[in-house]
Amino acid sequence: MSDSRNDRPGLGRRGFLKLSAASVAGAATLGAASRPAAAAVAGSSARPAPLPAAKGPRVVVVGGGWSGLTMAKYLKKEKPDFDVVLLEPSSVFFSCPLSNLWLAGLIETDMLIHSYVDAARNNGYIWLQAALTDLDREKRRAYTSLGTIDYDYIVLAPGIDYMYESFGVEDPAEQYMVAQTWPAAFKPASEHLTLKGKLEDFEEGVFLLTVPPGNYRCLPGPYERACMIAAYFQKEEIPGKVVLIDPNEKPTIKAEGFLAAFSELYKDVIEYMPSTKIEGIDIGAKKVITEFEEIEFADAAIYPRVRASRLIENLGLADPNSPQLEAAIDTLRYHVAGDEHTYVTGDARPMPFSKSGNTANSEAKIVAKMIAAHAEGKEVPWQSPETICYSAVRADPLESIMVDAKYKHDGHGAGWGFTDVTMINDRSKDLGKANIEWGKGLWRDMFQS
Ligand SMILES: Cc1cc2nc3c(=O)[nH]c(=O)nc-3n(C[C@H](O)[C@H](O)[C@H](O)COP(=O)(O)OP(=O)(O)OC[C@H]3O[C@@H](n4cnc5c(N)ncnc54)[C@H](O)[C@@H]3O)c2cc1C
Repeated sequence: MSDSRNDRPGLGRRGFLKLSAASVAGAATLGAASRPAAAAVAGSSARPAPLPAAKGPRVVVVGGGWSGLTMAKYLKKEKPDFDVVLLEPSSVFFSCPLSNLWLAGLIETDMLIHSYVDAARNNGYIWLQAALTDLDREKRRAYTSLGTIDYDYIVLAPGIDYMYESFGVEDPAEQYMVAQTWPAAFKPASEHLTLKGKLEDFEEGVFLLTVPPGNYRCLPGPYERACMIAAYFQKEEIPGKVVLIDPNEKPTIKAEGFLAAFSELYKDVIEYMPSTKIEGIDIGAKKVITEFEEIEFADAAIYPRVRASRLIENLGLADPNSPQLEAAIDTLRYHVAGDEHTYVTGDARPMPFSKSGNTANSEAKIVAKMIAAHAEGKEVPWQSPETICYSAVRADPLESIMVDAKYKHDGHGAGWGFTDVTMINDRSKDLGKANIEWGKGLWRDMFQS
């Protein structure tokens, strides 16, 4: 394997590789939460949730994704007397990471699905299959779909929602139509199952994929997905073309590796359209309207701009100055400004980190330490999360590329940049194997003791 396409991006002026200006602006501004801490909770059930009495300080973790699962486990590890309750309304965990390989038929559904019962049993916490509906931060009371929970700390890790306005779709009825007809498949489970079914039924024509503007979940995800769908079309001899529309000049990460795969492996199957902004979607005519042309498609997975989960805004915790409505938190300590008992982690955070499972997993371990220290009247210094991310670019044999990076800031939790970056753009079978092993390792970390 030659090193010619391996690169280590240089750090820009003042030693910082500039990240998305919009997301940096969001991270730098800690606007006051738009809603008072004592929330109005009209309509929420005031009955206590069906839980055993707390045996120690109670920590409620909201969201059983990559952040919340890691958080629940590591809070118990850091401070075994914490009584940890994980709130997650889904009955099973479905992994977004490695789901593009599953779309191409490289791994079985079983690999992606895991049990919340196992995670909780193996790690000594409680899983309550319920959703957080409201919060009274003054009383430290969580309102859930199954009743109230009084807590000492609460960690919100509810992930993302989509902003279809970014593609010119303003009307909620039309947004719903786009979401149902061409789901992005960047939130776990149902959207992915729908996308897999679409590929299995696909007969011919353009399958449209989009890269969102701003800092979105899984930077390499749309490019990896284009490769895996193209590989699937080749294998099944489906006369389809993947059109990938990207507002950026080139892939947002691992650009050389993806561009090499597009031209060397999928020349006739992937049409990559960089520097192309979507301005509207003609739902009836199945067309996206860009500044230059209209592109018809047979089917699609339309991935618009992401925002922090609506839960964050509904709780009055979104930074009104954040273009992606991310949480207003102290970016070095993760707690809501002025409230050291409410934390926000994972893809709802405002820092311009790569919104990835590995980032969420490594970050949750750090924040668990912070909360355990706070409970003992101590403070632990900020540490960087780590983004280790493999992307499959070839299916047979499986070959991947990868990046490993950490973050640094200007000393005040703003002006973020990458550091310690290793980027391997030369696809290889070894990285393909490492890709699968990475997934297995992190699932083990979240679900086993
Ligand atoms: C196709 C694809 C491929 C990817 N590949 C990779 C990869 O290779 N490597 C990598 O590191 N990352 C990858 N990612 C990114 C990774 O999946 C996300 O960054 C990660 O899931 C973020 O974790 P999270 O906990 O913040 O959010 P999520 O994992 O989305 O979890 C949020 C959870 O909160 C729950 N929730 C929401 N609202 C409430 C509520 N009111 N009450 C209770 N629970 C609630 C949701 O049900 C959900 O389970 C990929 C993503 C996709 C879509």
